Amino acid sequence: MAARLKGKTVLITGASSGIGRSCAFEFAKTSPEDLKLVLTARRIDTLKEIASEIQKEAPGVKVHPVKLDVSKPDEVSGLVDSLPQEFKDIDILVNNAGLVKGLDQAPNIKAEDIDVMFSTNVTGLINMTQAILPIFKARSDGGRGDIINIGSIAGREPYQGGSIYCATKAAVRSFTDALRRELVSSRIRVIEIDPGQVETEFSVVRFYGDEEKAKKVYEGVEPLTPDDIAEIVVFAAGRRENVVIADTLVFPSHQA
Ligand code: NDP
Repeated sequence: MAARLKGKTVLITGASSGIGRSCAFEFAKTSPEDLKLVLTARRIDTLKEIASEIQKEAPGVKVHPVKLDVSKPDEVSGLVDSLPQEFKDIDILVNNAGLVKGLDQAPNIKAEDIDVMFSTNVTGLINMTQAILPIFKARSDGGRGDIINIGSIAGREPYQGGSIYCATKAAVRSFTDALRRELVSSRIRVIEIDPGQVETEFSVVRFYGDEEKAKKVYEGVEPLTPDDIAEIVVFAAGRRENVVIADTLVFPSHQA
């Protein structure tokens, strides 16, 4: 697997915590020589700390942290131009940035929270894909690269109180599936990984910071760790070119 990732440039959105952060470490651990990581999120100071931790653990890995809000189309469209030359030739895009805000019955969800969820989870992911695809398509061998979208069980099994978040992840699922079909004649792989319960900051963000409420969600279930998902992301990226792990659902053992 390390040989297949050698020399690659990986761009991860939402790399400042949880699954995105773990993906950064996992890619670096799997391919500690000659890998380039572009780590993006809004919290640039956290990204810089992650970058220096990675470089301590894997000095052969080059890391470029970038402050990026995926819900801002201008920031996304200017991203590639703003990258140093050695980080521009992206091979793998991990569309991971996402959040849930306001778990409540549909009529009670605030307009601003609906907008944040859609503009981050859906439009942000689509904008990132549109920004990076031209790099993949321009490759002289007819187009090559990996798009790895982090969906959710919520996109398959909607639940009460999660209507908007579930709708965003169903949209991710539809978009990913259609894109994979559109690109089927190229060597661009489109991959979706849908986690079940993973304990991250996400758990707290969804209850506006209420840690007690966040913990209650896991009663009777030992949630996954972000590393569990990161291992699968890197595994998918490290398959030989003819293998596409198109659609994967990952649960903790006791999640119904
Ligand atoms: P975290 O809250 O730990 O991480 C979310 C990441 O997204 C952070 O790095 C955050 O960085 C970033 N982010 C949020 N909004 C934006 C934005 N507008 N622009 C750029 N980055 C943004 O949660 P997880 O790691 O759990 O979530 C990662 C993905 O996994 C999400 O898509 C989520 O929907 C999905 N998922 C999570 C599950 C879980 O149980 N945890 C289950 C199923 C799916 P910053 O604040 O610095 O911008």
